[in-house]
Amino acid sequence: KEHHLPFEEVLAKRRAHIGPNTTLNYRKPLHIVRGEGCHLYDADGVEYLDCVNNVAHVGHCNSKVVSAISKQLATLNTNCRYLHEGLCTYAEALTATFPEPLSVTYFVNSGSEANDLALRIASCAAPGATHVAIMAGAYHGHTKAIIDLSPYKYDGPGGEGQQPHVHVLPCPDPYRGEHLDGRKAAKAAIAEAHADGGRICAFFCESVLSCGGQIILPERYLEEVYEEMRAEGALCVADEVQCGFGRHGSHFWAFEEQRVVPDVVTLGKPIGNGFPMGAVVLSPKHAKTFSAMEYFNTYGGCTAAGAAGMAVLKVLQEERLQEHAHRVGEYLLSKLAPIKQECDCIGDIRGSGLMLGVEVVQSTESKKPAPAAAAHIKEAMLRHRVLMTVDGPHANVLKLKPPMVFAEPDADRMLAVLKQVLQEGIPQAVLEADTAWEPALPVRELRKLQLQGQHAAQKQHGGNCDTAP
Ligand code: PMP
Repeated sequence: KEHHLPFEEVLAKRRAHIGPNTTLNYRKPLHIVRGEGCHLYDADGVEYLDCVNNVAHVGHCNSKVVSAISKQLATLNTNCRYLHEGLCTYAEALTATFPEPLSVTYFVNSGSEANDLALRIASCAAPGATHVAIMAGAYHGHTKAIIDLSPYKYDGPGGEGQQPHVHVLPCPDPYRGEHLDGRKAAKAAIAEAHADGGRICAFFCESVLSCGGQIILPERYLEEVYEEMRAEGALCVADEVQCGFGRHGSHFWAFEEQRVVPDVVTLGKPIGNGFPMGAVVLSPKHAKTFSAMEYFNTYGGCTAAGAAGMAVLKVLQEERLQEHAHRVGEYLLSKLAPIKQECDCIGDIRGSGLMLGVEVVQSTESKKPAPAAAAHIKEAMLRHRVLMTVDGPHANVLKLKPPMVFAEPDADRMLAVLKQVLQEGIPQAVLEADTAWEPALPVRELRKLQLQGQHAAQKQHGGNCDTAP
């Protein structure tokens, strides 16, 4: 057995030397030392089923990806100022997965950088327009400019709130039948910008609202918003950081399900299976508009990133993981349906492919979110060694977004544990814990209250809560 430092010692080092607001998952954090496929192993050799990690897309430590990166690192790793066939072949293969006219790539190091760059590209395409439209509850990244486009963060503790140049479309809630009209929402955002004397240069939206609680947008939603935004002269940016690369199951890119072609697509997380990289994909026309200033990024598009990206694409294609995600997703939805029927605290099950959400409510009649119950389920599933995460504006949606190699037996194991936890019952006090919930209370106020609650719990338990997308 490999030797590892004791849990307490690692925790002490972390507390002393890593920024205190760099959060850990779970009340008692896990000391994970190894990963394989959709399984993680802690320092004591205990195995966990990972239903959360959407970065280890083709499986933790996928041997083909590891070997491609290692080989490249041992041969050459430099910035992209030299001609290298690996990176160019990868850019060609990556853009081949997109509809016309999206054929040009800029390589970056993360999803945040991709969105930051997308904002700059939009500013160049619409000179003088400085306002931006986004979706409520969104998270697009951690740079200063992008935090301002992330109500998920700016409305939470330490956030500076909504900036005057930002206009927020309400999050569609198909389960409660609210905010389904994209055109109305887009028109309102544009009118708000005009009333402030501004113009919108970009509309950012995840093609499936992951931080919004795994929301599949209503039919034609993006089509209608895009029409309005384009009439305003704004670029439409699809954030595919979480939902892209086949996770949606029915399509390789989730925006395809909405039958739109964005102006700019931003990529991250799964693109390198954990190798830190990201990309922005756009048309030659918009790339040209952006080209006045030289683009350079020391690590973005480095030789090793090209190898990582290519290996991920190859595995996805060779192992037909998009089709696999579609099949396993359908299987999960079909097995979750009877669980929902039996349990009054499961309000909605939704999603597509391996991007599913289970919404926990106080009762199916009231549809009141039950965040404490969702947290309870997550913690109880940990005791059965199944890792889940909770998200959404009311922090009451259990999210399933496992590595794409997650198969039917893994689904059965997760479902059996979920069923057992629900059968064990959720104390009524926990179910009704969030008395702050009021339909009229703005989401942002609610999120603040919940985060404050979570932070209090974190202090109390010494561990941490799960607020990371
Ligand atoms: N967009 C979305 C939808 C995300 O979920 C994230 C990360 N959670 C980002 C952008 C930012 O990506 P990164 O953390 O790689 O900067």
